[in-house]
Amino acid sequence: METRTRAFPGALRRAIEVRDRHCTHPGCTVPAERCDVDHIVEWSSGGDTTQANGRLLCPAHNRQRPGRTSPPADGP
Ligand SMILES: [Zn+2]
Repeated sequence: METRTRAFPGALRRAIEVRDRHCTHPGCTVPAERCDVDHIVEWSSGGDTTQANGRLLCPAHNRQRPGRTSPPADGP
């Protein structure tokens, strides 16, 4: 059984929603209810599932964050 959890549990998610209110990407105002809670330090890189390591990102910005590899589908 895992001792660390990848997903932010409900109470922790709520705390981050109350703190951030909307997507934390600069200039983005997508409201919390449409955002995901993202690990600032990736869970796979040893980041903890804590309020300090969580932030709201809307689905678009969650996918755009650097370090998430995505195949260069139509790059130059
Ligand atoms: Zn956003």
